Amino acid sequence: MASSSSSSSSSSLHLFPTTSNLITQTSKQRSLHLPFQHSQNTHHQNSSIHSTLRLHPAPHRRRSNVSCIAAALPSAEEEESLGPLRIAIVGFGNFGRFIAQGFRRQGHTVIATSRTDYGEYCRQHGVLFVRSVDEVCEEEPDIVVICSSILSTESVVRSIPFEKLRPETIFADVLSVKQFPRNLFLEVLPPEFGIVCTHPMFGPESGKDGWAALPFVFDRVRLAAGDARQARNCRRFLRMFEDESHNADLCLDVRCISPLAYIIATVPNDLSLSEGCRMVEMSCEEHDRHAAGSQFITHTIGRILSHLNLESTPINTKGYETLLKLTENTVSDSFDLYYGLFMYNVNATEQIENLDRAFETVKQKLFGRLHDILRKQIVDRAPTPMKEKGERKKKTNLNPSFLSHSEKIKDLSIRI
Ligand code: NAP
Repeated sequence: MASSSSSSSSSSLHLFPTTSNLITQTSKQRSLHLPFQHSQNTHHQNSSIHSTLRLHPAPHRRRSNVSCIAAALPSAEEEESLGPLRIAIVGFGNFGRFIAQGFRRQGHTVIATSRTDYGEYCRQHGVLFVRSVDEVCEEEPDIVVICSSILSTESVVRSIPFEKLRPETIFADVLSVKQFPRNLFLEVLPPEFGIVCTHPMFGPESGKDGWAALPFVFDRVRLAAGDARQARNCRRFLRMFEDESHNADLCLDVRCISPLAYIIATVPNDLSLSEGCRMVEMSCEEHDRHAAGSQFITHTIGRILSHLNLESTPINTKGYETLLKLTENTVSDSFDLYYGLFMYNVNATEQIENLDRAFETVKQKLFGRLHDILRKQIVDRAPTPMKEKGERKKKTNLNPSFLSHSEKIKDLSIRI
């Protein structure tokens, strides 16, 4: 399937300044432009930077017999061949675009696809946009990151032609719920594919000034024992979020100058010029428990507040400013996202019920006091002996002023 934004001819002509022009050609385009075939071991990884070295799409590589742990330590030969990761983003909405910027800043190749045509945006941001998951798979990404809405993820994942991907491919997701994608991946992905479930606990708003110190939850659900490349790619993917940030631009400019400079400048950092998230390794179940009690509650309060149409006043307190911000942030996320937090997290219903009970408790505390006052008044109004009637009348102004008129009392009782 072709689109104006993703057609081979148009994307091969993109000229991005410095860092961006590293990464845009499809494997087919490369095969048209390239003068010779590079060695099978290295051509895939170096493809974005040294695309002139690549002639044909890489055939599936044979698995290494090295154990998973040994594979975590790249050999000199492997290090020499390290290049940018090829990361496919499936679902290029709000969050997909946001996270793509981070991958690009770190010099990785980003291939995106989505229901909507983001070709123009991608052209401007050094991302290769293709119009179908088939085309994504033909690009042979190292990692496929699912960034679709929670609600559409199942149909999106099931539509991927897995047979077109290499066996060491890693599937990752960024969904705000975790048990659901974990179970879906385990059910539908070929057994040799790696699975890393993640939840960056930030978004385009909270992470707009960088990812440093923001929590990043991950669960390495499955990595094929003995697959050196898969283990290494998984490590590199996570490391993108993990370390302190480096001056990515400087490094990428060096790589543009010459292949030799590229090797010297980037291998020590494994090309992972990371942005310093706080990495939290946690099971998907545990994530969902915590997230229901924190993130889902936050979104729910924000949604409730949004129905109050709160406005800024000349006397805003800090707390009120926080509520205004919360409301604004919450409604900037799609309702689909919020509904997904509810529908796809088994703990969410309990939290809604807790919230309901908590609200009732607070109301009872408030109205309980009010009832005491009302009761007192009712008792005070109880028929009194005739002789005291005159005195009683005089004493009515001893009641709290805001409840002194029977009309007001009626009003309040109606509201209760
Ligand atoms: P979203 O509304 O949850 O998802 C929008 C994405 O889903 C877009 O790429 C959209 O494609 C795609 N989509 C929606 N319906 C679809 C359908 N029927 N078929 C195919 N694709 C469909 O908003 P989001 O903020 O971009 O979130 C994306 C993912 O990131 C979600 O899973 C969310 O939980 C996760 N996440 C979000 C945040 C955040 O702060 N926003 C933070 C962490 C994780 P088109 O754009 O092409 O229509």
